[in-house]
Amino acid sequence: MSYKNELFALCEGLNCQYRENEPLKAHTTFKIGGNAAVMVFINSEECLTQLIRFMNEKNVRYFVLGKGSNILADDSGFEGVILRMGRDFSHIELTGDTDIYCSAGASLSEVCKTALDNSLTGLEFAYGIPGTAGGGLYMNAGAYGGELKDVIKTAGYISHNGEIKEINAADMALDYRTSIFAQKKDMIITHMVFSLKKGDKTEIKAKMDELMEKRRSKQPLEYPSAGSTFKRPAGSYASLLIEQCGLKGLTVGGAQVSEKHSGFVINKGGASFRDVMELTGKVHDIVLEKTGFSLELEPIILK
Ligand SMILES: Cc1cc2nc3c(=O)[nH]c(=O)nc-3n(C[C@H](O)[C@H](O)[C@H](O)COP(=O)(O)OP(=O)(O)OC[C@H]3O[C@@H](n4cnc5c(N)ncnc54)[C@H](O)[C@@H]3O)c2cc1C
Repeated sequence: MSYKNELFALCEGLNCQYRENEPLKAHTTFKIGGNAAVMVFINSEECLTQLIRFMNEKNVRYFVLGKGSNILADDSGFEGVILRMGRDFSHIELTGDTDIYCSAGASLSEVCKTALDNSLTGLEFAYGIPGTAGGGLYMNAGAYGGELKDVIKTAGYISHNGEIKEINAADMALDYRTSIFAQKKDMIITHMVFSLKKGDKTEIKAKMDELMEKRRSKQPLEYPSAGSTFKRPAGSYASLLIEQCGLKGLTVGGAQVSEKHSGFVINKGGASFRDVMELTGKVHDIVLEKTGFSLELEPIILK
């Protein structure tokens, strides 16, 4: 591919690591996916901005990957550039009395720990969601009655023409597992600020521990997955419908509807993209036939 040499030179100039033919299964919690032609490990806003400008100029396909915890990647991989946000781009800082700033690659759980360390309440629900802050905001991640919509104040993003902009919470179109970032797909989140409240450290810790224990006891965390496989349909719960239809344990190849939590499809070992698609297709059809609910996949398909 003609763009590669220029891209690699740009990365070297920005001191930003890259790899060719990088297996996506090593970067998704489902442990599924073929190779990405190139993966670049983002280390700063400057690096991200320059790369987005380059990709747009050269018309190179790219995909922004957080922790890969809501991704189902195709077995044939991705013929383009994966911009991996993570450890190298994970600054977290208390700003003002009750605000926390973080880079998009910061782990959501680490942001929760910073809130705890500073006796700030509001983010307890997010402790244990295994993604980055950027991926969380894109998905409006939520759990146990809370969602990022409740605590986000502002975010910074790079627009499709490479400009750096700020956006307020009210303009983010945050709703159940969606946001303006998910709808427009060309706004790359660089950082964000959460607005929290002063609280009691012991109570905050107790809540975080209680919710983490719920996750450990109810979710099949011992297997690779992308968390809840289907979105919650209006008027019911995907896991309830799947259980009512007797689909716990249903298996295709290495993919299985978890016996422990019917809302999760797990990778029992060697599951492929095709296995998961076939299994979730079956679940969809049986649930539709028996209950009238049409379940929609929650993970983002990367192909
Ligand atoms: C065991 C388990 C439990 C889970 N529990 C929950 C839960 O309780 N609640 C919940 O909501 N989710 C849950 N999830 C799903 C997942 O963790 C969340 O959706 C998480 O917010 C995804 O973050 P990520 O960094 O992994 O994003 P990824 O999965 O890497 O990406 C998700 C989407 O966000 C986009 N994206 C990522 N970063 C950026 C950025 N900086 N700018 C623009 N777009 C970006 C990607 O392009 C992609 O479209 C769970 C997953 C697992 C495996």
